[in-house]
Amino acid sequence: MTNLVIRNAELLDCTGADPRAGVDVAVSGSLISDIGPGVGSSPDEVIDGDGLTLMPGLTDAHVHMGLVDPAGGIGDLPWIDYVFTVRGVIENTLQEGFTTVRDAGGLDPHWARLSEQGVIAGPRILPSGSVLSQTGGHGDLRPAHHIAHPRGSIPGLSATPEIVDGVDQVRRAAREQLRKGATQLKVFSSGGVLSPTDPFDSLQFSYAELRAAVEAAADWHTYVLAHCHTSDAIRRALTAGIRSIEHASILDEDAAQRIVESDAFAVVTLSVKYDLLADPEAARLTPAQLTKLQAVESAVHRSLEIMGETGVKVGSGSDIVGPLQDRRGREMANKAKFMSPAEAIATATTGNAELFYMEDRIGTVEVGKEADLILVDGRPLDEIELFSDPDRIVGVIKGGRIYKDTQRRLQKS
Ligand SMILES: [Zn+2]
Repeated sequence: MTNLVIRNAELLDCTGADPRAGVDVAVSGSLISDIGPGVGSSPDEVIDGDGLTLMPGLTDAHVHMGLVDPAGGIGDLPWIDYVFTVRGVIENTLQEGFTTVRDAGGLDPHWARLSEQGVIAGPRILPSGSVLSQTGGHGDLRPAHHIAHPRGSIPGLSATPEIVDGVDQVRRAAREQLRKGATQLKVFSSGGVLSPTDPFDSLQFSYAELRAAVEAAADWHTYVLAHCHTSDAIRRALTAGIRSIEHASILDEDAAQRIVESDAFAVVTLSVKYDLLADPEAARLTPAQLTKLQAVESAVHRSLEIMGETGVKVGSGSDIVGPLQDRRGREMANKAKFMSPAEAIATATTGNAELFYMEDRIGTVEVGKEADLILVDGRPLDEIELFSDPDRIVGVIKGGRIYKDTQRRLQKS
């Protein structure tokens, strides 16, 4: 039985095929059941797709929906404000056309359950829970003159970094995240821009510590993503078996080749860098942080060229933080400065789907896949900037259910 048909849209199915005009897509239950002209007899609901592009829902492999402070932490809001703010970020993410996101740390996994249960109207969320960091690492947010750590996690609500040292502590913290519902683990394995005390080029976690996290994840049939800016950190992470290299901002040819040989991914995150550079004062960046950020910015363009030359598989992440986290889709136009619009869209559809081990469920519009679909006012291949304007995403369907229909295209039959 057909529940829903989207009629007469221009289909950009993201399989690599050219867009096709006048296509109908039928949905039964949560899945795409048929594609082609005139499919789906006597559906319950029809969406008129005339003049719109229909494509798979977007994905983002590096979000921090729980980090609502402009400087990247959970901030110092009263907890009730925190709850409402995070809920707003999650629901807004779906409204902007992102139907699956991987949280790269800071969001308690219970938020993903609430979204899955429909308690909040959010995307499919793949939570990492608390990021694992070594003492003095990127997740250690204490200024040098402080001993006590800032606000810790409240299970079921917030997930601040776990500061752990040594194989046993790493293993225990890794298993604790998996117990709470993390679908993969996140570690900090190099210095970072926003952390107060670590040198940017520092290597964080020993090989044995990284290996302990990878083993805990593998035993749970999942994988580890690692915050890694520099090539030395990337090499160590890959040797330990890490699958998803986040940022990879300062990448040399050798490290790129190693990513390819390891069948790993580089998740390039551009939006956060441009945001912070555009308004360093809003993020309260210190001069030291600004210097680190400028070093990243000047290297990332060459790193992307190297990825293209070596054939590194690229995933897409925005990495934006703060109380609004709006216009996440800017990442598409930012990536298209370095690749074609089709390639930029592929990073956020098929690329991330493969990274998430979800390529049989999401990433393209094909029969049997989840009905995670968006309707876009315009032609994305001709105008990649449209993703930067959430109002151009006029329809959002997740798992066969309609979450956005700003042009009132839905007709009940
Ligand atoms: Zn991040």
